[in-house]
Amino acid sequence: MEKKTLVCIACPLGCKMEIQVLSSLEEETKYLVSGNKCPRGESYGIKELTKPTRMVTSTVKIKNAHLKRLPVRTSEAIPKGKIFECMKLLEEIEVEAPIKVGEVIIKNLLGLDVDIITTRSML
Ligand code: SF4
Repeated sequence: MEKKTLVCIACPLGCKMEIQVLSSLEEETKYLVSGNKCPRGESYGIKELTKPTRMVTSTVKIKNAHLKRLPVRTSEAIPKGKIFECMKLLEEIEVEAPIKVGEVIIKNLLGLDVDIITTRSML
């Protein structure tokens, strides 16, 4: 069976892991994860193999503020395959000061049930 290696990013230890598909039946696929020092590594490894996601942090344009760009992030991790589309959308939008930290500037981003929120206030 094919083996994949990856580094767990669930904590700063960064365990180097190997993941092997043991059996793949219609209802369930079984995996063997090794090299992880705790159970979080196993769930991270399987998720990374089957449905990889990432938090997105970026900036958007802002009007009437002392800076030209406002830092933002996704409220939760989004599928890796949607990151490019998300970044394109963030490049197109512009908000206006004043704005507070934690404000939602895009609700239900790309229909993913995830919001884009501000990570600082700008007056
Ligand atoms: S497997 Fe556990 S200990 Fe190792 S990096 Fe992941 S979270 Fe940290």
